[in-house]
Amino acid sequence: MELLDKIQAISRWRHGDQRAPHKPLMLLYALSQYKKGHERLFKFESEVDDQVKELLVQYGPSRKAYHPEYPFWRLANEKDPFWELKNGEECIPRKSNKDPKKSELIKYNVMAGFDASSYQSLISDPTLIEKIASKLIQDNFPDTLQEELFVRFGFEVDTSTKQRDPNFRKNVLRAYNYRCAVCGFDLALDTVPVGIEAAHIKWKQYSGPCEVSNGIALCSIHHKAFDRGAISLDSEFRIRVSTAVCGGSLVDRLFWDFDTKKVHLPRIERNYPNIRMIEWHLREVFQTSS
Ligand SMILES: [Zn+2]
Repeated sequence: MELLDKIQAISRWRHGDQRAPHKPLMLLYALSQYKKGHERLFKFESEVDDQVKELLVQYGPSRKAYHPEYPFWRLANEKDPFWELKNGEECIPRKSNKDPKKSELIKYNVMAGFDASSYQSLISDPTLIEKIASKLIQDNFPDTLQEELFVRFGFEVDTSTKQRDPNFRKNVLRAYNYRCAVCGFDLALDTVPVGIEAAHIKWKQYSGPCEVSNGIALCSIHHKAFDRGAISLDSEFRIRVSTAVCGGSLVDRLFWDFDTKKVHLPRIERNYPNIRMIEWHLREVFQTSS
C-alpha cells in the first residue's frame, strides 16, 4: 500500500462528526520538519509536546486539555503502519486507555516518526511530502484556512482541488440578499457583489451539506473569523464572539459591537441556518475560553 493511501485512511476512518485534527497536525508538523532536513525521529519532550500542543490550540476545537501525546503514540497503531515508536516498551499504560501518560513518554525519552521505509520514500521524493501535506490540509480544514496552513508549515500552496459549488454560493447569497449576515456589508460594483462569500456552517470536510440551511452569507473578514472560531451563532441566531478575540477599536466595531446581536436572517424561514449545523459549529469550531 502506498504511503499516501495509508495516510488518507486516517481521515476515512475518523469517528463521525467530531473534529479530529490531532493526527493531521502531528503529521503536518513532522513533514514540515523533514522538509527542513530533520532526521527521522522526533523526541517527544523537546520537539513535540509544546509544538504540537500549540497547533492543537490554534487549529483544533476548544477543549479543556490538549493532548499532543495522543497522535504521537497512536499513529503507530494504524492498521497499515507507517509510523514507529522508539523506547516505548517500558511505558506504563494509563488505566482509562492504553496510551501511556505524557510523563512516561518523557521519563523514557520516547521518540517517534515515520518508519524507515516511509521516511526513505519521503526524502527521496520531495513532491511526495507536498502531496501528502496537501491531502491532509484539504481533507481536514475549510478553504479559508487552507492557504494559511500551507504557508505556516512552509508547503507550496495548492488550490488545485478547491471544489466550488456555484449553486451553493449563488443560493446562499440570494437568500441573504447579498449582504453579510453579521455586519450587513453589501458592497457591489454595479451589480457584482465584492467581498461577500457563502460560508459553510458545518464544514464540507465533515460532510456538511451544500444547502442554504447549512450556509450563511458573510463578508470576507467575518467568513474567515467564523471558520477560525472567532465568532459563532447560538440557537436563537445571535452572534457569539470568542473571548479570545483581541484588537483595537476597529475590532471592537467589527466584532464586539455585534456580540449577542441577532444576525440578518433570510426572508424565507426554511433558509434559516439549521440548528444542528449551528450546534456543530459551536461545539467543534468556536473558540471558547479555556
Ligand atoms: Zn461582515
